[in-house]
Amino acid sequence: MNPRRWCRELHWPHLGLLAGLPVWWWWATTRALSPTMTLLVWLSISAVVLALAERWRPFRGDWRPGVAQLRRDGTVFATNALADGGVTALLTLVAIAVNPGDSGWPLWLQIGAGLLVSEFGSYWMHRLSHGGNWWWRVHLLHHRPAQLNLANAVLAHPLNAIYDKLVRVAPLLSMGLDDAALIAVALFALTQSLAVHANVAGHLWPLDYIVGSAGLHRLHHSTRQDEAGNFGTALPIWDQVFGTYRRGASPVEVGVFDPRRYPDELRLGALLLWPFACSRCARFGRCCALH
Ligand SMILES: [Zn+2]
Repeated sequence: MNPRRWCRELHWPHLGLLAGLPVWWWWATTRALSPTMTLLVWLSISAVVLALAERWRPFRGDWRPGVAQLRRDGTVFATNALADGGVTALLTLVAIAVNPGDSGWPLWLQIGAGLLVSEFGSYWMHRLSHGGNWWWRVHLLHHRPAQLNLANAVLAHPLNAIYDKLVRVAPLLSMGLDDAALIAVALFALTQSLAVHANVAGHLWPLDYIVGSAGLHRLHHSTRQDEAGNFGTALPIWDQVFGTYRRGASPVEVGVFDPRRYPDELRLGALLLWPFACSRCARFGRCCALH
């Protein structure tokens, strides 16, 4: 690719957030800012940067969320905030009970190991969720929309949010990582989760061999199964190790392979109840006796 074009077409908002993240982490940890404030402020900064970028240089104009989509995603965000709060409280109690103490490792090693371990758990849970089993019925809500944007980055079933957090964070607690390392891992995962879903044009090549990108994640949401690898959101390393790393042109369509099999993307209640519906007739209750 022509160097000037390569430079012009970089995903500058994502790169800017990745560059700003260590600065914010260093500032927040040296001033002993609480973990909650550290994450909330960075979440707000990232959301504003990416929301402006979606207006400045959208990847697809027709992927902008309408009022109905924003209402649906806002409802899920509020629900998941409660679910996350419950899981965090539970994990904190577990950490107090089992924390083996300071690992004694240098901070850079703690952060590196923490990123690899948390992504490993998330990779396998995510891959399991695409196996056409009950977990897929839970994960469906995240894949049901036929567009990708910042708002639907938070669109996940509360059960999905809970088990993703458990597999990411529980192993870290048993490693005895410092608070600063845990916060660095959480900040990186947060940034990546928002940036890879945002509807912003631009590439990260060749950085996307070591960091997750919007281009890679769009392929994960492709309606074509041969394109839909890339189960790692923050790091592609486990996709590379286990043979699910996908690169290439952007998918023509994102969403689910056969939308007619599932509730409409705006029927939030039906999508939330989908894991508990009969797998044959999609009804609830005693219908199963008919099959
Ligand atoms: Zn998925």
